[in-house]
Amino acid sequence: MSELEELYREVANCTACDLHKSRTHPVSGEGPEDAKIMFIGEGPGYNEDQQGRPFVGPSGRLLEKWLALINLTRDEVYIANVIKCRPPNNRDPLASEVGACRPFLDRQIELIDPRLIATLGRHSMERYFPRARITKVHGRARREGSRVYLPLFHPAYILRNARAAEAAEADFKKIPRLLERLYEVLAEEARAGSPAETQGMAPPVEEEPKQLRMF
Ligand code: URA
Repeated sequence: MSELEELYREVANCTACDLHKSRTHPVSGEGPEDAKIMFIGEGPGYNEDQQGRPFVGPSGRLLEKWLALINLTRDEVYIANVIKCRPPNNRDPLASEVGACRPFLDRQIELIDPRLIATLGRHSMERYFPRARITKVHGRARREGSRVYLPLFHPAYILRNARAAEAAEADFKKIPRLLERLYEVLAEEARAGSPAETQGMAPPVEEEPKQLRMF
């Protein structure tokens, strides 16, 4: 059993918060263990809870459409959520539930070790862009070390606010270039032997959220 499969087993047996009592299936996440891109959503909705898979309802269909814009399919990326069990009536996750689930997401990120993490919606954005407003920072990537973080609108938000659809697509389409740019800068830093501020790309951020450095 791989470490990731072991984690899925632990999620299935988890009783750390009350959500395990009302869920139908836990939704651990899915995708290749060596995925370069990881999406982090909020938590399972009705369809995900029924099937035990992330983003399989209307939000998932929109996510797949966005992926097609950059010539990717869902099985080429890793898809996770902040919380692994559906909150009753799709209410927002409680801070205590996010906290209880956090070690699972931490380990997923560590095991997958993606080069780009795209957060979907404000609950996952909060982890990397604390107190930021999604309407302000969406599409503004930040690099830290060998990874880029990109805050994106949640597909469910776009399904309710069609006016923002174009902006959401434009943000999504930045992904290939951001990855390309990351690899260029990392190669440059490796040649230089030390982290360098290169072509306007921000170096790792020391303090948050004093200054959200984007590129
Ligand atoms: N919304 C999410 O945030 N995650 C899912 O898995 C499905 C819908």
